[in-house]
Amino acid sequence: MPLIARIALNRPLRRLFDYIIPEGLELTPGQRVRIPFGRQQATGLVVQVGVEPPPGITLKAVAGAMENWPALPVETFKLLSWASDYYQHPLGECLFTALPPALRRGRIAEEKKDQWWRAIDSGSTIPANAHKQKALWDWLNQRSNGAPTTDILRAGFNRAQLKALQEKQLIEIVSPARPADFNEAPELLARRPRLSEAQTSAAEQLATPDEGFSAFLLYGITGSGKTEIYLHYLKEHLGNQDQALVLVPEINLTPQTVARFQHYFGARIVVWHSALNDGERLATWLKVRNGEPVILVGTRSAALLPFTNLRTIIVDEEHDSSYKQGEGFRYSGRDLAVYRAHLNKCPVILGSATPSLESVHNAKQAKYHLVKLEERAGNAAPPVISLLDIRSRPLEGGLSRPALNAIEQILAKGEQALVFVNRRGFAPVMMCFDCGHMVECPRCDTRLTYHRRDRAMRCHHCDYQTAATEQCPKCKSEAFKPVGQGTERTEDILATAFPDTPVVRVDRDSTQRKGSIQGILNQVNTGKPCVLVGTQMLAKGHDFPNVTLVVVVNADGGLFSVDFRAPEQLIQTLLQVSGRAGRGTKPGKVLVQTCHSDHPLLKTLCEGHYLDIADQLLKEREEGQFPPFRAMAIFRAEGDTMEKSLQALDTIKPLANTTGIETWGPLPAMIARRADKHRAQLILNARNRKKLNSLLTGICQELDQRKLPAGVKWMIDVDPQETG
Ligand code: ADP
Ligand code: ZN
Ligand code: ZN
Repeated sequence: MPLIARIALNRPLRRLFDYIIPEGLELTPGQRVRIPFGRQQATGLVVQVGVEPPPGITLKAVAGAMENWPALPVETFKLLSWASDYYQHPLGECLFTALPPALRRGRIAEEKKDQWWRAIDSGSTIPANAHKQKALWDWLNQRSNGAPTTDILRAGFNRAQLKALQEKQLIEIVSPARPADFNEAPELLARRPRLSEAQTSAAEQLATPDEGFSAFLLYGITGSGKTEIYLHYLKEHLGNQDQALVLVPEINLTPQTVARFQHYFGARIVVWHSALNDGERLATWLKVRNGEPVILVGTRSAALLPFTNLRTIIVDEEHDSSYKQGEGFRYSGRDLAVYRAHLNKCPVILGSATPSLESVHNAKQAKYHLVKLEERAGNAAPPVISLLDIRSRPLEGGLSRPALNAIEQILAKGEQALVFVNRRGFAPVMMCFDCGHMVECPRCDTRLTYHRRDRAMRCHHCDYQTAATEQCPKCKSEAFKPVGQGTERTEDILATAFPDTPVVRVDRDSTQRKGSIQGILNQVNTGKPCVLVGTQMLAKGHDFPNVTLVVVVNADGGLFSVDFRAPEQLIQTLLQVSGRAGRGTKPGKVLVQTCHSDHPLLKTLCEGHYLDIADQLLKEREEGQFPPFRAMAIFRAEGDTMEKSLQALDTIKPLANTTGIETWGPLPAMIARRADKHRAQLILNARNRKKLNSLLTGICQELDQRKLPAGVKWMIDVDPQETG
């Protein structure tokens, strides 16, 4: 009887396809194959082999294997199968996410540009008149490691000569693609600072790769030297042949972090993020798959890469919301990293100054080992945070007089200030003071943000934009004015207030061009007086030694949100942005402007003990029966009309009607219409995660069978980050 292979395709289908394995072909799970599919050929991934063929159905045969090795090694394959089940996302799409785009499309898994070639002495000879071939062979023969194609071409040889020598078996392709030249120590290695006593004690509490799986929550206040501990750990414990994974939230925002790793480890560092082109992705993917001893620094999808000898995982800024994918396969890179460490039997270190409540909870449950680092590295002291009540104070560009005075004082001392505004653009809305009209997005239930630099009004929730007008579009009144604060407006006020000091704006608009963030950081790192004004982006892991003052223009945004994660996120952002102050030798000060200076959350912020605040927030989560005390999932629907969306969820609700599971909704989402889609949600909240998981599996299968009315789509989000 012929053997059957069960194959996954890169399609949103919750099913696999059976094919006959032709005689003589050996397949293993994770391997890429070509299969006939409809009238075309498709690339598939083998999920299972040796399945009994179903009776009475004639099956087509696999056309061939794309490689004779599995593109996804065992642990990667297991990780993705687990994730497919956990996040309720079709297995095929999960598995294909771990392939670089070129391989998803069915390209051959070899690094086209940079094959390495080596001379071999096979006894055959080069014809006397083939001077160029002789020269190429000699050239390669002088290089014991061989050379990449690009270097060979650059040296004046061509592909025909390579081919001719290869046919005569005088040269061969080196495998793996590149020899390990990783252990050349870069010169800067010598300059690594010695760990402080506190750092040493923290580092000693971490298990080594040989001790198998364990998870560590490294809680280290901002500027405590966590990055230094990661570097030290890898240097001490990672073997010459070992691979390591370092997850970071957004690589483009923190080029400094990557540079520090490169200083220590040179060519052993490879990066992985969304700005790489297809060729770079394939090349890096192959290195990882070939088991080269890389230290890979990458964003969330790096957790899915096919490491074969992974011995350490580090997740920096583990609380960062960018670890959760917001669409399609909605996985958490951080959570997959922990599961991956478990599969690979290696340690995982989750680092943050403001760890997620999930991780703090896991530490309390002794699932993670808590390692604390509560003093700053070097001579730096933690910043002093104080609240500045701005009720009935006149504001200029959102800034109060005391805040402007404080900036003036530190500039006079030759220091730098950072002003945090939570909105880009000039103002969040344009309003008519005669008729009260506010300009809204025609496609979303939101207002348009006014961008004065390019005289546009833009929606921050879809791509709609329109030219700004001088008059109210409704009543033509001239009393048509920007309301509220954006980074551009604060930048203008600061530029007027401090005409002799550079004011540098950092937000998505000002950093769009490639390399612009690096330019901005370079300017700040000269240490000369300047005022930085920007969004969230400024809160992310930067090390500005001469910033001694941080001003938060308005802290009140998250205080009264309906989203149960809002207080946690508010505190994390405020502490992270505060953490940019006083990282060098001079002490730092933080002024938080608010209209609610008696709000208990802001009061505890000033005491600055994150773990105490986290305890308090965890109590509230427990009382409200929210995650991490409950397992949560959201069904979302997007339709042409709200009625359709709500109806779709109404059909799901009875399926979830089981003891131990609460359902909330269906309700319109907070932004009920976005890009002309009407959005609604149904929340499922369960005591028991296993029970929720099997319920969801059942519901998803059921929904696949049913046909929803045209014009509405459903999706599922497990462990949602946004519940609004
Ligand atoms: P974190 O990652 O916790 O924010 P970093 O590792 O970036 O902290 O360290 C903060 C600053 O302190 C950096 O400028 C770093 O170079 C410096 N630093 C860290 N450890 C030491 C040390 N042991 N001695 C001197 N300076 C240190
Ligand atoms: Zn008007
Ligand atoms: Zn819009």
